[in-house]
Amino acid sequence: MYKGNIILLGAPGSGKGTLAEAITENYNYLHISTGDILRQEKNSDTELGKFLRTTLGSGNLVPDKIVNEIVETKLKTVDKPFLLDGFPRTIKQAEFLETLTEIGLVIFLSVSDNTIVKRILERGKTSNRPDDSSGEIILNRLRQYYSETMPLVDFYSKQNKLMKLNGEMTKEEVFKEFQIILNMF
Ligand code: AMP
Repeated sequence: MYKGNIILLGAPGSGKGTLAEAITENYNYLHISTGDILRQEKNSDTELGKFLRTTLGSGNLVPDKIVNEIVETKLKTVDKPFLLDGFPRTIKQAEFLETLTEIGLVIFLSVSDNTIVKRILERGKTSNRPDDSSGEIILNRLRQYYSETMPLVDFYSKQNKLMKLNGEMTKEEVFKEFQIILNMF
């Protein structure tokens, strides 16, 4: 059974957070979501907080240097295997991550654009996130995903680390498939 660090890769709304929840409930993993960390940091009375208040929520990616530093700091405090949710999102981030730690498994949650838009708009009703509530921002997030993040599928395939899951399935089915992968990896 695979017991190392895991990356959850997929478009916004592909179910990364939901799968991460199921994994941490059943296995000894720490869930690290850069989106959650950035949203928290946004409220702080720092230069970074100020910067994030104007950029986060637009659907654009936060610059690599900022996110890389956040992840580097976070990983120094971690004492068990972790799940990265929302990081890396660019090739530059993936290359930086390789200088920090070892990742053996990348789970790619694949979903259609239709499902993504539907799920995010649904989530927006309760998440209070501006970037979940506007069609225009969601489309921008999708554009960013295809241009910046999608190349990571190739990047990790070439390293034989990528396992694809059909993110259209129910969360129970996705988790079951994930367990099969974990056991055979
Ligand atoms: P998420 O909760 O993962 O959808 O992230 C929400 C927002 O935070 C994204 O739209 C980006 O603006 C920013 N963000 C989160 N993770 C990253 C990352 N790895 N690189 C750049 N921006 C990020």
